[in-house]
Amino acid sequence: MEAVMRKIMDCLLALQKLQFDVRVRLTAVQAELEKLRAEVPPTILAHYERLVGRGKKGVALARNGVCSECHLRITGGKLVGLSAGTDIQLCDNCGRYLYLPETAPVGLAETKALPTAAIKRTPREAVYHVA
Ligand SMILES: [Zn+2]
Repeated sequence: MEAVMRKIMDCLLALQKLQFDVRVRLTAVQAELEKLRAEVPPTILAHYERLVGRGKKGVALARNGVCSECHLRITGGKLVGLSAGTDIQLCDNCGRYLYLPETAPVGLAETKALPTAAIKRTPREAVYHVA
């Protein structure tokens, strides 16, 4: 009987630990969400939240000229706008925001060569400064 009670109490303690842990973590996540939402203009956030509300990711990566979520080819004009960073682009097919990863090949020779060299140099210099 003692062993049974012990097991029950062990379970209760583990349960409590998990529940309080989750609560602490949820609060932290909530704060982070608020912080990030505050950085996004309301109209952009609204479109994003609509997609998320339908169970879709709101942002797709533009990889090799293709939308990472629906795999449709991104038009040349949109790719140019993306790599220039001047405008926010939506995928024509799925309506997600397109995000161009820094290392992704854009398919535009002149935009590819320069930033890559600059990105590679910066961390090395930073390390030397610290040492
Ligand atoms: Zn898409």
